This record gives sequence, C-alpha cells and structure tokens, in this order.
Amino acid sequence: MPEVRPEIAAMPGYHSPQVDVPIRLNTNESPFSPPEAFISEFAEAVRTIVWNRYPDRSAIALREGLGRYHNVSLDNIFVANGSNEVLQTVLLAFAGPGRRVAVFEPGYQMHVQIGRIVGSEVIALERNADFGLDVQRVGEALATIDPHVVFVSSPNNPTGQCDDESLIDVILDSTGALVVVDEAYAEFSTWSAIDRAVHSDRIVVSRTFSKTWSLAALRLGYLIGSPSVINHLWTAVLPYHLDASKQVAGEIALKFTDEMNTRVARIVNERDRVQEALRSMGVKVSPSSANFILFSPQRDANLVWQRLLDVGVLVRNCSSWPLLNGWLRLTIGSKEENEAFLQGLQSALETE
Ligand code: PMP
Repeated sequence: MPEVRPEIAAMPGYHSPQVDVPIRLNTNESPFSPPEAFISEFAEAVRTIVWNRYPDRSAIALREGLGRYHNVSLDNIFVANGSNEVLQTVLLAFAGPGRRVAVFEPGYQMHVQIGRIVGSEVIALERNADFGLDVQRVGEALATIDPHVVFVSSPNNPTGQCDDESLIDVILDSTGALVVVDEAYAEFSTWSAIDRAVHSDRIVVSRTFSKTWSLAALRLGYLIGSPSVINHLWTAVLPYHLDASKQVAGEIALKFTDEMNTRVARIVNERDRVQEALRSMGVKVSPSSANFILFSPQRDANLVWQRLLDVGVLVRNCSSWPLLNGWLRLTIGSKEENEAFLQGLQSALETE
C-alpha cells in the first residue's frame, strides 16, 4: 500500500457506535419523526425531479427559502451535506496546510478532526472545571496562537452550555481569525450570532437540519455569513455537491417551522425534567441549553454505561474524551425513552 498521510494514519477517526438496542440516546438526534405531511409532500416532489440532469449547482430555491426563514439574502447562505461538510468547506477555504485552527476542549470532536484532515495545526484551549471559559485568559492565549480559524459551539457539544456572547468579541479583538460559530443546537440557545455574521467578514454561523428539524437522515446543513466569505466557499466545494432531492426536501421542511418549534418546546420540557431527576439522584449535571445532557454518575462511568446498555439504553460514553473522564452524555428522547433511561440509571447506581 502507498504510504498514507501521517496525519491520517495517526487519527482514531470518528466513532459513535450504532449499537442495535431499543433505546438509542447517543447521537443528539430528534426523538420524533418529521411530520407526515412533510413526508408525503417530499415523496410527490421526488417524482418531478429531472433525474438525468445535474441539480441546480447554486441551490437557489433552497437558499431563497432559508433566506426568508432567517430574514437574510440568499447571498448570505451556503448549503452542503450536513453541517460537517459546511465546516469542512470552511476549513478548506480558510485553514488548510500551514495554518492554525483553535478549538475549546471539551468540544465537538469533528472540529479537531476536520482541521487535521485539511492539514492544519489544531490547537486546543482547555475549559475550566465547570466547562466555562475565563475570557481574559482566552484572549491572551489566542493572541499568542494567532489562529486562522477559531471554533465556538453555541450551545457547546458535549457540555450543553452556552458561552457568553462576549466570547466572540474577545476572539475578534485578540486575533485576525475567522470565527466559526457552530449553532447545530441553535433552536435551544439563548443567543445566535446570525445578525453579526451577516454584517461581518470575520464571523460565520453553521446550522443543521439534523437535530430539531428531525432530518438527520437527510444530511443537510447550511452556513450564514457575508457574501464575500461565502463566495470562497463556493470555490472550495465540489460542483453539484448537493443533490436535487436534498434541495427540495430542505425547501419543503421550511414549511413546517411551527411543528419544529412545538417539538423544541417538548424536548426542553423533558430535558428540564430529566435534569432535575438526575440531580435528585445525586448525579452531577452540566447545566444544559441543548437537547442533550452531559452528566457524571459519580462512580465508574464505563460501568454505568455498560449497565445501561445491558438494559437496552445506549448513551454516549465521553469518558475517554479530553477532560471528560467520568462523564456520559444523554440525548433527550421521548418521555418513555427518558423514563427507561432514568430507571436503568437508578438500578445501575444501586447495584454494587
Ligand atoms: N456541530 C455540532 C456541534 C454537532 O454536535 C454536530 C452533530 N453531532 C454537527 C455539527 C454535525 O451535524 P450534521 O453534519 O449532521 O449537520
């Protein structure tokens, strides 16, 4: 075999075991399927696609729809196959070999992985023990690192917390970097950087249909930023990267915003209930502004993870991730799924 790039050989890859168990609460998807009316309308639309031709390379109709939804112009919008591909395109255009990408740990593993795959040096700044950030220290550290791209996730995966919006200003003031605000869980957040991204060449915001829109299987994500930044993304991405069925599915999904907002409210109710239940069991919780909860069972997390799996409940074992020894992450599911989790956890904690 020819020699693989050393960065790739050194990488463990992205692993989220899809174990076949009844209750899967490990990948932060929505527990609800999309509305029936969405599925019927999409099925009809698929029949009208001109399959022998390439799709609209610029995805105009989808971007117009997203523009209306966010009250921005279509020139402010870039679309790709999931927000992971959006982020990859950003790094291809603004990072790449010989450049530096800064992240905060614990954070979303793919920021690190994509950064390394595009050949950049990835530098991690550690969060405090409560997963917050000391912004003055961050500013000083970033000024020394002088990164080309800085990732901020709001809310942050896997901690579930939102940093204060002033973090963006600290990054802008201490670096010349492009600030990528990953808003995969934006619908649960207290703030969004969209308004600022539209008016700045230094801030972009990525979003996804994978979580609250109940469309993880679709693989559709987008980015909001200034037209000049976005032009470079169109250069970096492959031609015709977004297939016609995905474009039309996204357009149709946008008709169902009310249903989406109702689901967000249901998930938030459940999240707050589960969070309280965990606290009353003596479990340590990272306060969540998202659709998942990072928790530390205060005993061997690997054992607790296995005992939950034994009763058919899969959560994410974060214990081997940077700074997360002893922590597990639960995606909020349906009421029944959350109940099964809480019962499974209770008995896992009681068993010697
Ligand atoms: N960003 C964050 C913070 C995430 O948690 C995820 C999903 N795990 C993504 C981006 C990627 O989402 P997708 O590619 O499905 O849009």
